[in-house]
Amino acid sequence: MTAAPPSAAYLYERVRRVIPPIEWPAFSDDIDAILALKRERNAVILAHNYQTPEIFHCVADIVGDSLALARKAMDVDADIIVLAGVHFMAETAKLLNPDKTVLIPDLEAGCSLAESITAQDVRLMRQRYPGVPIVTYVNTSAAVKAESDICCTSGNAKKVVESLGVPRVIMLPDEYLARNIAAETDVEIIAWTGHCEVHERFTPADIRDLREAHPGVIVLAHPECPPDVVAEADFSGSTAAMSDYVGREKPKRVVLMTECSMSDNVAVEHPEVDFIRPCNLCPHMKRITLANIRSALKENRHSVTIDPQVADRARRAVERMLAI
Ligand code: SF4
Repeated sequence: MTAAPPSAAYLYERVRRVIPPIEWPAFSDDIDAILALKRERNAVILAHNYQTPEIFHCVADIVGDSLALARKAMDVDADIIVLAGVHFMAETAKLLNPDKTVLIPDLEAGCSLAESITAQDVRLMRQRYPGVPIVTYVNTSAAVKAESDICCTSGNAKKVVESLGVPRVIMLPDEYLARNIAAETDVEIIAWTGHCEVHERFTPADIRDLREAHPGVIVLAHPECPPDVVAEADFSGSTAAMSDYVGREKPKRVVLMTECSMSDNVAVEHPEVDFIRPCNLCPHMKRITLANIRSALKENRHSVTIDPQVADRARRAVERMLAI
């Protein structure tokens, strides 16, 4: 017999540090309904680190950065995967689980990086730089992945670039990630001009102001931030690497230069750390709510489909990354 799901009241204990008691009643009904629907439909919820705490800590089964979600999506034992994240993440989950139903609660949950490049752009880059391998960030459509040799995430980009054993690679579409990786490797990197609309807004002056206002604060920056921001920070890494840093180093006071929900989610696990929270919201991630996760499970929407010919080629690029 399957165990009964925990009730929302029990789950509140997990998030009480980041969700005020007055806000909780607005969530608890949806949480109870989602837990019941997951059992009825044999569904799991994969949630990105930028999802709000009531999703991340109360209804998700698997959480993490893009790399972790892609890896763990392969081992999912369920009929339905609900992706609490943005559309390219749902496509990646579908690529790795072609026989499962993958649902994205809001079809408009996009990404400025994914929208910065098309499959035709990648074909033109290949023509312009014949023989140079194309490394594509997972924050892209399946059609763009299908034109690429291998994918990468912010967590493994340097490793992927160096695994190819060539002096020069094309890295698409995030210009800042490409430049930040170029600073760490001898491989020459040809970049595109896409930017994350959340991370491109941070500036070195923001960090200097924070250090002045909060002496001793440790600054962690995501590698989608501009290189001069990364240079001012104490550490740069993917959301998983930032979370690991906080757990390992236990700084007294820290600021994460990334999407707002990240600090809330990490703060739940580390009550002893003081999180300073200047952050930028991702409007795409914030399209996912408990209400539309509930509707997705109830009404089986929106099911992600990928043209099989595109999917085969895109899957190869993702699997090649996962094999590293
Ligand atoms: S935070 Fe940036 S990279 Fe991530 S989904 Fe939002 S726009 Fe895309």
